[in-house]
Amino acid sequence: MTEKGPTKKPTKKTAARARQLRDEIRRHERLYYQVGKPEISDRDFDALMRQLRELEIAHPELRTADSPTLRVGGEPIEGFEQVAHDPPMMSLDNTYSDVELVGWAGRLVRMRDVAGRDAAPSKATADAVANPIDDAIDYVSELKVDGVSISILYQDGVLELAATRGNGRLGDVVTENVRTIRSLPLALDGSPPARLLVRGEIFMPRSAFRELNRGRERAGEPLYQNPRNTTAGTVRLLDSRQVAERRLAITIYDTVSPLEATHAENLERLAAFGLPVHDSWRRCRGLDEVRDFIAHWQARRHELDFDTDGVVVKVDRLEQRRLFGATSKAPRWAVAFKFEAEQATTRVVAISAGVGRTGALTPVAELEPVFVAGTTVQRATLHNYDDLERKDVRVGDLVVIEKGGDIIPKVVEVVLAGRPSDSRPFERPLACPECGQGVSRLEGEVAWRCTNPGCPAIVRESIRHFVSRNAMNIEGLGDKLIDQLLAQGLLRDYTSLYELRAADLVDLERWGERSAENLVFEIAASRQRGLAPLLFALGIRFVGERVAGILARRFRSLEALAVATSEELVEVDEVGPKVAASVRAFFDDPANRERLEKLASQGVSMVADQVEETGAQLLEGLTVVLTGTLEQMTRREAQELLERRGARVSGSVSAKTDIVVAGEAAGRKLEKANELGVRVEDEAWL
Ligand code: AMP
Ligand code: ZN
Repeated sequence: MTEKGPTKKPTKKTAARARQLRDEIRRHERLYYQVGKPEISDRDFDALMRQLRELEIAHPELRTADSPTLRVGGEPIEGFEQVAHDPPMMSLDNTYSDVELVGWAGRLVRMRDVAGRDAAPSKATADAVANPIDDAIDYVSELKVDGVSISILYQDGVLELAATRGNGRLGDVVTENVRTIRSLPLALDGSPPARLLVRGEIFMPRSAFRELNRGRERAGEPLYQNPRNTTAGTVRLLDSRQVAERRLAITIYDTVSPLEATHAENLERLAAFGLPVHDSWRRCRGLDEVRDFIAHWQARRHELDFDTDGVVVKVDRLEQRRLFGATSKAPRWAVAFKFEAEQATTRVVAISAGVGRTGALTPVAELEPVFVAGTTVQRATLHNYDDLERKDVRVGDLVVIEKGGDIIPKVVEVVLAGRPSDSRPFERPLACPECGQGVSRLEGEVAWRCTNPGCPAIVRESIRHFVSRNAMNIEGLGDKLIDQLLAQGLLRDYTSLYELRAADLVDLERWGERSAENLVFEIAASRQRGLAPLLFALGIRFVGERVAGILARRFRSLEALAVATSEELVEVDEVGPKVAASVRAFFDDPANRERLEKLASQGVSMVADQVEETGAQLLEGLTVVLTGTLEQMTRREAQELLERRGARVSGSVSAKTDIVVAGEAAGRKLEKANELGVRVEDEAWL
């Protein structure tokens, strides 16, 4: 047995190496969690961590309080210590309507005016009267992130303590757990005050939540209900190593330490310290701008990777905040505007079935109309017959429906207490509701499909898909018109689109010569869309936009793809055996081959076009940031478009940004781009 002596003193070189590793790891953490663009693989990242950990084990004195190794989670702790919050962590008053919001703002104006009158007519008030702008009330609007609130203390720039809200005055110390959140810096940039106390919200990104549940499903464990509750449970886990495995995230929304004179400036300072301040916040002059902010996010909250239940409106000037003060429960200078509930309860009138492009039958609940989050809902999807059976949804049932991230509302569950006594389980249709032919399902699949390739529903849906924006993009050919053309026998499948003549259209109801010619022109123009959109348009199973692009780049022509063997196909990146088999099956089907020949004879381009050819190089290596609202496409579509051209799409503007694409109402990112002299383009450029 060797005697335990003091560990060998680390050499200067070792100390420098530890420092270098720490910096390197921090840089990669930032790239991964804040910028969203990692430069190295997870494995390489782990290797860096391992090196640092080994160094620190050999030389504990090298482990600084902000070392990234401390994120990995320490030994389990017994219960939690408690700490007093000073000032207390308050809750927020809620408003649910514009009227209530106006009421809140009106009370502030009255308080301001009373305070101004009561005060001796000082110079300040005289100025304020002479110059009403001076005492205008400006606001900052922020998203209300639905998670768990947290108070975090940085002492001399180093994360020292994190505590839950608890009862508002006393919270649980969960520092070890909070350290594991990678987007939170353990040490701040710049020159923060010696004591910086910030407040924020810990949450679990939706993607992380889904991943977590997928893992539990595989392991046969019960699924978690929602990200919020899971976050609350995770933050209070006793073993921080378990916390480290869950991908928690955080946003900082306030500080109670004196920094600047306004909240907006404070948020900018906090972000400059490297703290994760979600950049959706806006300074709003007047309630109209607050309303715009609310409307904007009410409509777009599903594009976010986290749950929000509303908007928090705060008075911007801290001096005014002090004037308005707080009640025993909540500050008067802030208010939460809650988004409309997205769930509602209603009755199932009937259960019908929709037939999709692939013949799959989707059960749909026909509902007694109910108003949810701004629209009247009359139908909700039941996904598939297995799901329907599991939920045991019956005609006549009272059900909870939800408008979620998907466009189509869904049935969440049955309210059993409201079930009629004479109800009977629903029986799956044995025939296609559109053509009456039998339905079947392949082994291992959930979907029941119509077996009739000529089924009118399949024909209709595949034409709709063919002309859709990301496919052949034939504008002006809407669903109604397709129905009309089908009914008239002017369309039989997507190949007959190119045979349409303006004269055919003019004869149809409501069609003028001009619009008929325009449409025929649009259709003709679509022949040059190129290989990738065409492949997507054909509706080959498992060939979405992305895979279509990959196949187009790899094979360059439809001819080459059509003869590729399964072995050749699976060699392509992101193409697995399932996709390969589906592509082969498509080209082996004589009916499909006939259609493709027809398209070719109609002059539809079947080779990769110029953009696809040089596309990879066009924006290769450039970092692009999207900001503002796009009119022509969604953010996701824009991102995919840019990535197809080789660009890296990042979330924040820095000196490394090459191009900023600014849509409508672009805000701070655009300002920053201008400050930094970054090239700015508009949506048309895209
Ligand atoms: P409530 O719990 O409904 O009283 O709402 C107050 C809570 O909203 C706070 O304790 C925070 O945890 C949370 N919250 C989420 N986002 C924000 C934000 N941007 N500003 C202030 N509070 C927020
Ligand atoms: Zn059918």
